[in-house]
Amino acid sequence: MRRHLVLVLLVLVVLLIAPASFAQQPRFKVLAFYSTSVETDHVQFAEGALKFFTACAARDGYTLDATTNWENMNDGYLKAYQVVVWLDDSPTNAEQRRAFQRYVENGGAWLGFHVAGYNDKDTNWPWFVDFMGGGVFHINNWPPLPARLVIDDRTHPVAAGIPDAYDSPANEWYVWKPSPRLTKDVRVLATLDPSNYPLGLKDVLTSGDLPVVWTNTKYKMIYMNMGHGDKIFTSSTQNKLIENAITWLGTMSAPESYPAASGKEISPRGVVLNPKTNKLYAVNTSNRSVTVLDGVGHYTSAVKVGADPEAIAINPVTNRIYVANSGSGNVSVIDGASDKVIATVMVGDFPYVIAANPATNKVYISKTFSNTVTVIDGATNVASSLKAGVQADEIAVNLVTNKLYLISYESQHVTVIDGVDNSITTLAAGIHLWGVAVNPATNRIYLTSTGSSNVTVIDGKNLRWEHDPKLLRSTR
Ligand code: ZN
Repeated sequence: MRRHLVLVLLVLVVLLIAPASFAQQPRFKVLAFYSTSVETDHVQFAEGALKFFTACAARDGYTLDATTNWENMNDGYLKAYQVVVWLDDSPTNAEQRRAFQRYVENGGAWLGFHVAGYNDKDTNWPWFVDFMGGGVFHINNWPPLPARLVIDDRTHPVAAGIPDAYDSPANEWYVWKPSPRLTKDVRVLATLDPSNYPLGLKDVLTSGDLPVVWTNTKYKMIYMNMGHGDKIFTSSTQNKLIENAITWLGTMSAPESYPAASGKEISPRGVVLNPKTNKLYAVNTSNRSVTVLDGVGHYTSAVKVGADPEAIAINPVTNRIYVANSGSGNVSVIDGASDKVIATVMVGDFPYVIAANPATNKVYISKTFSNTVTVIDGATNVASSLKAGVQADEIAVNLVTNKLYLISYESQHVTVIDGVDNSITTLAAGIHLWGVAVNPATNRIYLTSTGSSNVTVIDGKNLRWEHDPKLLRSTR
């Protein structure tokens, strides 16, 4: 009996101690390198960063060591750490550089700030330029100024809890040439909002793509351009972003390599394929962009478009991609050769559905709460309006006959627009029409309705049913 009591007590003691000793086990170990002999503003940043990361380490359960001795950049010293942080400095010594390269190539993580990523023609470290995503330092603003930043990738764990845009404290912002965004392995997480331009007084940034935070997905790495002066840690939003970054790096199991398309809310209307280049374009409704995948399905880039991109269409003949931005009432025209927006065409409120006729180079857009269709002339990017009498939920194009077929959930008719003279005819086709497809070779139109398992087939030449829709018969 007594022995049992001792056993029970022992078990209790073990149970009470065990969680505490687990909590003491650090999740990962971080080593921060910095220098005190550099520009004052950079020393100030490093000191602020050490204070900040010390608090994070306690909160998030990791250990932080810091050193100003860059000789510690060697295999033996680094192997105890999962994350190496460079606070506004980098190694200039070949042996240290090689040790760092081995470290990250063997799965070590890196978080670099501001001038830590600096490189120019005299840096003589081509491997590091690739590691950074291919960009070489180009210019900067002066003096340091606050700037509005936009989160590019809402689905990335580092963006968790960060609003779509925020005001980043005063910093010296670097422009890179070429933009690291152009490198397919790079995933940009935050960008300087173009609304900041012109930015600076003595040295003024006037335009261009300026990624601020990114990761080269071939490595466990994040670069953050913030890091000039003593204001960097005065934004709780940005602090959260930095805290997320180091935790993500410290706990990730392997580099991401190619990022997945972050297309939450992609509808069938939101994806197109270029049949010639085999490139795929998908709208990212939640982050105002179009994701581009190459011919083998690898992420290539994200193209910034308007607010709430809903639907996308392609003219493979001209290699132009058209994106209906529901939130901004316009259509972004992307050149498929460069995957850059070359025009933005105003079309009115809530563009919802978009279709292109490659034969006539016309693009048709329907809008929520509107019975008109906007027509964009692909040659001039000039928009005109066409009374369709229906708020189309889907548009199908027969490029051979130059006819458009519009359906609406609320209409029992399919509306046929003649692309030559814009004349309109309608044909009863079913209740709550849901889908429409055209076979240009046979000139047959196929329609589906919700609540029915039938497909209605229409002969496009004579505009009559080939197969009487049973749904209509049963409800007549
Ligand atoms: Zn600086």
